[in-house]
Amino acid sequence: MSREDLLEERYDFNKVEERWQRSWQKSKTFKVTEDASKPKYYCLEMFPYPSGRIHMGHVRNYAIGDVISRYKRMRGFNVLHPMGWDSFGLPAENAAIKHGTHPQKWTLENIAFMRDKQLKRLGLSYDWDREIATCLEDYYRWNQWFFIKMYERGLAYKKLSYVNWCPSCNTVLANEQVEDGLCWRCSTVVTHRELEQWFFKITAYAEELLASLDKLTGWPERVLTMQRNWIGKSTGVEVAFTVEGTGENLAIFTTRQDTLFGVTFMSIAPEHPMLEALIKGRKQADAVRVFCQRVMSEDKASRTDEKKEKEGIFTGAFAINPLNNEKVPVWVGNFVLMEYGTGAIMSVPAHDQRDFEFAKKYSLPMRVVIQNPEKNLVAETMKQAYIEDGFMANSGPFNGLPNITAKEKIADHVESKKLGKRTVNWRLRDWGISRQRYWGTPIPIIYCDKCGTVPVPVDQLPVKLPMDVEFTGKGLSPLVESKSFRETMCPACGGSARRETDTMDTFVDSSWYFLRYCSPQEDRAPFDKKSAGYWMSVDQYIGGIEHAVLHLLYARFFTKMIRDLGLFDGDEPFTNLLTQGMVIKDGAKMSKSKGNVVDPDFILTKYGADTARLFSLFAAPPERDLEWSDQGVEGAYRFLHRVWAIVYKQSEAVRHVKPAGPDARGDALYRKTHLTIKKVTEDIEREFHFNTAIAALMEMVNEMYDYASNGITNDKLPVVRAAIDALTLLLAPFAPHFAEELWESLGGNGTIANVAWPQHDPGAIVATEIVVVVQVNGKVRSRLTLPAGISDKEIEAAALADAKVMELSAGRSPKKVIVVQGKLVNVVV
Ligand SMILES: [Zn+2]
Ligand SMILES: [Zn+2]
Repeated sequence: MSREDLLEERYDFNKVEERWQRSWQKSKTFKVTEDASKPKYYCLEMFPYPSGRIHMGHVRNYAIGDVISRYKRMRGFNVLHPMGWDSFGLPAENAAIKHGTHPQKWTLENIAFMRDKQLKRLGLSYDWDREIATCLEDYYRWNQWFFIKMYERGLAYKKLSYVNWCPSCNTVLANEQVEDGLCWRCSTVVTHRELEQWFFKITAYAEELLASLDKLTGWPERVLTMQRNWIGKSTGVEVAFTVEGTGENLAIFTTRQDTLFGVTFMSIAPEHPMLEALIKGRKQADAVRVFCQRVMSEDKASRTDEKKEKEGIFTGAFAINPLNNEKVPVWVGNFVLMEYGTGAIMSVPAHDQRDFEFAKKYSLPMRVVIQNPEKNLVAETMKQAYIEDGFMANSGPFNGLPNITAKEKIADHVESKKLGKRTVNWRLRDWGISRQRYWGTPIPIIYCDKCGTVPVPVDQLPVKLPMDVEFTGKGLSPLVESKSFRETMCPACGGSARRETDTMDTFVDSSWYFLRYCSPQEDRAPFDKKSAGYWMSVDQYIGGIEHAVLHLLYARFFTKMIRDLGLFDGDEPFTNLLTQGMVIKDGAKMSKSKGNVVDPDFILTKYGADTARLFSLFAAPPERDLEWSDQGVEGAYRFLHRVWAIVYKQSEAVRHVKPAGPDARGDALYRKTHLTIKKVTEDIEREFHFNTAIAALMEMVNEMYDYASNGITNDKLPVVRAAIDALTLLLAPFAPHFAEELWESLGGNGTIANVAWPQHDPGAIVATEIVVVVQVNGKVRSRLTLPAGISDKEIEAAALADAKVMELSAGRSPKKVIVVQGKLVNVVV
C-alpha cells in the first residue's frame, strides 16, 4: 500500500470535488439504460429556465433530487436522473430587445454556463447524455407534431380572445410584461384587444383530471386541493334575468338557487358582451367605460383574490328576477370574470360574504331569505353574511322549508317554468396557447385563401424559427415582420399562402419533457414507447409549489392526451410529488429587489459543493422553507472537517482490518453504528427527512470521538472500521465527493455510488442488556448483567465494583484490567 492512496491530512474540497467530478464524467458513472433485471426508479427535478445563473432555490431543489437518486441507486434501483432546459420564453426576447443579442445565442450561452460552471460543480448525479433543451428543433418539432394531432382531433381550435395591448409600443404584451396595469417598457396604460387565438381543449378532460386526483396518494394534500379548486366543478342552475327595456336575457349561474329570492342586485364582468348595450345613452356610460378599462388592465388572478378590494359601478340598467318579478340594479364588479360561469352573477348580500361587503360599501339593500334556527336574523343588524343552513324565508311558496330541500324544489321550479336549467359548471377554461412572440414553438398552421386553415403536413416539420429577424420591442412580433417566414406555399393546393405567426405558450414545452427524457435521441416519434413503458411514470417529482396548478395540470392533461393517441399506457405522469419550500433570508424570499440574495457561486468557492449540499439539506426538511444562516453553512463545513480528521487518524490502522460483524454486538460503537444506519435509512424513507438523518450522522461522529478519546487498542479496530465504513456510505448521497475520497482511502474499488447501502444488524439494536464475563487472573469468577451500549470504561468500573472481584483483590488496586470486545473483563491482581 502506498501512502498516496491514503487521505491527505487536510480536507481540500477544491481538489476532492474537481477530482471526482472529472472521474464521474470520464467513466459516465450516471449513464443509464433500460435494464429489465432491476427495479427502475425515475427521479426528476423540474427543469430550469436558463436565466444565466442558478440561485439557492435551485441548489436546494437539485440537492434533494440528488440525495434521493443516489440513495435509490445504492438500494439497487436502476435510477433515471436527467436534467435539461426549459429554454423558450420571454426573458431571452427581452434581452434581445435590450442588448441586441439573438435569443438563441443568449439562451445557448446561458445553458453552457449554467451546466458547465454551475450545475456540474454541485456534483449532481445526472445522466448528461439525456440532456434536452426545448428551444432546439429536435425537441420543438414534437410540440408541433402534438399540435397537429390535437388539431385533427378537435383538441386544438381557434377563437376570439382578449390580449394585453400597448398602444404606444403598438404591441401585444404578455401578462408578465404588464406591471400595475402599465407597459413594462414605456409605462403606457395597457389596453385590451380581441384577437383570434389558439386554444387546447383541456376542458374535454375536466372530468378525468378531477376524478383521477383521488388516485394521486403520493401528492401533497395541498396541491390536490389547489388542483380541485382550479378545475372547480360545481352543480347548480342557470337562470335568465330579463333586462328592463331591452328585453334581452342576462343569464346567471348559481349553486345557491335556494337564495334566489334574496337577490338585491346583479354584477357583471367588465368584459361582458352586453355591457355596451346596457349603458348606451345613459348618463353613467362614460364613468362605466373608464372603470372597465382600468379593471381590465389588471391581472385576472388578482381580481378574484379574496384580499383584493371589491369595487363596482352602477350601469344605470335594471333586470327582472324571474322568480319574484322584482327589479334589481345591474352593476359592474371587478371580481366578476367572463371566464367563469356566464360573466354575470346574482348578488345575495345576506348570504354571501363578498356580496355583503359590497352591499355595505355601496349602501345596497339586503334581504334575509334563509333564517337561522333561532329565527332572529334581521338584515339591518347583520354583521356578516349568514352562510349556514336554515329555513327558507321571504321566498314565496318555499317559505319554511329547510334550505337543502328548497334547493331541489327551486331547481325543479326553474326547470318546469322554463326560467332556466340545472347545470354543471367548471371553473377550468380551455388553455390559450397563442403567444404573439418570437422565442417559442411556431404553431404549424398555414392559411390559404382557397383552402382555409391547413395544418403543416407532419413530414414537413419542424416549422423552424427564422434566424434573420430584428428585435425592436415595437410593432408586431418579429415573425409577422419576417416575410421569408410569413409567406409560404399552401400544402393542399400549392398556391401562395401565409403562415400562422403565433408561437406556443412555453407551458407546452414542459408538458411532456419527462417523456422525452426516456429516449431523448429518438427522431421518429416524440419518444420511444418501449422506453417510456420502462421508465414512466416519474417515481419522484420535485419542484416549487408555484407550479402546483398550471404546469402540473397541463402535464397531466398532455399525459392523458398522449395516452389517447396510443403512444403511452399510463394515466398519470408523476407518482409522487415533493414541493420543496423556499430559501429565505432575514425572513423573506431571496430576491434581487430585497437585496438578500446569496449567490451559490460564493458558497461553492468558499466552502465547496458538499458543504453547500449538506447545509441546504440539514437546515430544514425539504417541504419547509429554509432560512439561510451563515452559521449553518459554517457548521456543515466544520462537520465535514471533523469527519475527515477522525477518518484520517484511523485510516492507516483500519485499512486492512475486516469490519466487525455480529460478534461485536454489545460494543457501544458497534451498537451506535447500527442504530445510525437504521435511523438514517428510516428518515430518508419517511418523507425524505434529510435533516434528522444528518443530525444522526453528527451524533455518531461525536460518539466516535468519545470512543477514540483514550486511544484505540488493536482489538477495537474492526469496530472502528465498521463505523467508518458505515459513516462513509451513509454520507455518500449527501456529500458525494467527500464520501468518494474517504471510500477510496479505505481501499474501496470504483465509485461509492455503486456500493450497496448498508443494512443494520437488528441484533445489535434489540439487545438492551449484555452479559459480561469477569475473570480474575484468567479464571472466570463472576458474570455481570449490564446495559447494552455501555462503554469499556464503565464495564471496567462495574467489574472492579463486583463483590467477588473486591474479595479476590483484597483491597489492592489491580495490576491491569483488560476489557475484551465489550464482553469479557480480565482483572490481573
Ligand atoms: Zn409600451
Ligand atoms: Zn390552398
